[in-house]
Amino acid sequence: MTRPDHHPVAQHILQEVFGYSAFRGAQAQIVEQVSAGGDALVLMPTGGGKSLCYQIPAIARHRAGQGVSVVVSPLIALMHDQVGALEEAGVHAAFLNSTLSSEQALHVEREMMSGRLVMLYAAPERVTNARFLAQLDSLYERGLLSLFAIDEAHCVSQWGHDFRSEYLALSLLHERYPDVPRIALTATADDLTRADIIERLKLEEARVFISSFDRPNIRYSIVEKDAKPREQLLRLIRDEHEDEAGVVYCQSRKKVEETAAWLEGEGIKALPYHAGLDAAVRQKHQDRFLREDGIVMVATIAFGMGIDKPDVRFVAHLDLPKNIESYYQETGRAGRDGAPANAWMTYGLADVVNQRRMIDESPADEEFKKGQRGKLDALLALAEATDCRRVRLLAYFGEESQPCGNCDNCLNPPATWDGTDAARKLLSCIYRFQQNGGQRFGAGHLIDVLRGKVTDKVTQYGHQSLSTWGIGADLPEAQWRAVLRQLISLGHVFTEGEYMTLVLADSARSVLKGEVRLLLRVPSVPPKRSSRTTRT
Ligand code: ADP
Ligand code: ZN
Repeated sequence: MTRPDHHPVAQHILQEVFGYSAFRGAQAQIVEQVSAGGDALVLMPTGGGKSLCYQIPAIARHRAGQGVSVVVSPLIALMHDQVGALEEAGVHAAFLNSTLSSEQALHVEREMMSGRLVMLYAAPERVTNARFLAQLDSLYERGLLSLFAIDEAHCVSQWGHDFRSEYLALSLLHERYPDVPRIALTATADDLTRADIIERLKLEEARVFISSFDRPNIRYSIVEKDAKPREQLLRLIRDEHEDEAGVVYCQSRKKVEETAAWLEGEGIKALPYHAGLDAAVRQKHQDRFLREDGIVMVATIAFGMGIDKPDVRFVAHLDLPKNIESYYQETGRAGRDGAPANAWMTYGLADVVNQRRMIDESPADEEFKKGQRGKLDALLALAEATDCRRVRLLAYFGEESQPCGNCDNCLNPPATWDGTDAARKLLSCIYRFQQNGGQRFGAGHLIDVLRGKVTDKVTQYGHQSLSTWGIGADLPEAQWRAVLRQLISLGHVFTEGEYMTLVLADSARSVLKGEVRLLLRVPSVPPKRSSRTTRT
């Protein structure tokens, strides 16, 4: 929807200042809305071109004598990059943050107060401090406060993956400067977050612009973990990404270090990155990743915010992300140049159990945990899906689409089997445990009993005498794990305590009664099992 001659001033700035010939997607309408003094909420995926949506109105309004635009951003690195690029292009911009000396800060403030400055970047806590507000008051009284741009606006929402309490205070901008237009931008777009942004930033009057979240060049694959997930990863790298740049996400710092060292030992140029490393080491690894070819960064989620490397060819997850927003954000770092890229994830029963437990054991209130559980369930449904991943992913962000032809399920439709009966057997078995002295057991023992395997534990508890003993001998262990994983994903079974013992949820009754049909993937690689522990 490019309308080149719709707003000649904006079009002119686009070419003259930024050297681009046409607006992308909704940029033209957004620029028009904000330049004219209206509010906007912009939901656009990473790499979609959000910056121009406020930079061009800021320049246009400054040229029209309307003064300084204030850009609120939590990312210091991004402030530096953007200010550098703007000054390079001849646009007078500056930032205020803790990296400046007081002398430098004074200089910036003078430039701002004179109205010469086009754009001022600042962190949210700066914008809402009393001294700064007094300066804004003075600009406002003189008609030189032009625009507020609030970047990473999802930080205002507890539903987002990156809540920052300083963002809450930004609602005062509207109360204090009611006729200064505001544009809020984010790449996180589920309904809950969106509603939260509108309410908390008082953007009820804003026009909402939602871009497609599709990243057609990214191929999504989600595979089941076998006994050696690292080797699954190595196979992916060797088969498809020899000497290419990639990011491997792990949940813990320890696992980051172990995985990086192991890959290194296998001849892959891998570097670790997590918040526990020395700042200098982190910087060095990040620089090498950006500058050298073919570096694989093994990282926690500490890595990635604000990193703009166009030719990342794959993003791999060795652990489950927190929710679909995180998954989308993290995988979105692949293929920003538009060339084919892989988003690959391996996951297993233990991931499901761990993520659930992290939510259960977090100190948050029950309402919040409920939201988190719902979000995890949506991610698990994506992981267990037997149909197009992209259709599901986009549906989560409110977009309808057709099967994509570029995800694992489209390319290799998985074989499915009807797991309804198996699920009923499994649930009855947990029920029998509970009847039989109220004892609770974990996945390993449950599957042993179903398959009729005599172990010390079986003998100790006399479980050969249960009516469910051996009723599942016909199915291999991997299939039982898949059934259990699905039941946990669907919330019919949950786990408790350190030993992750299994407990029936009330909703299990509907499965036991045969009211719910379970269509499951046939496990591709039959995993070997270790005797007692749940696999990670
Ligand atoms: P976001 O903040 O949404 O992640 P950016 O604003 O950083 O995205 O833009 C991503 C890239 O796309 C940048 O390199 C930017 O210069 C480029 N870009 C944005 N808009 C256009 C356009 N209309 N034409 C060409 N390139 C553009
Ligand atoms: Zn698909």
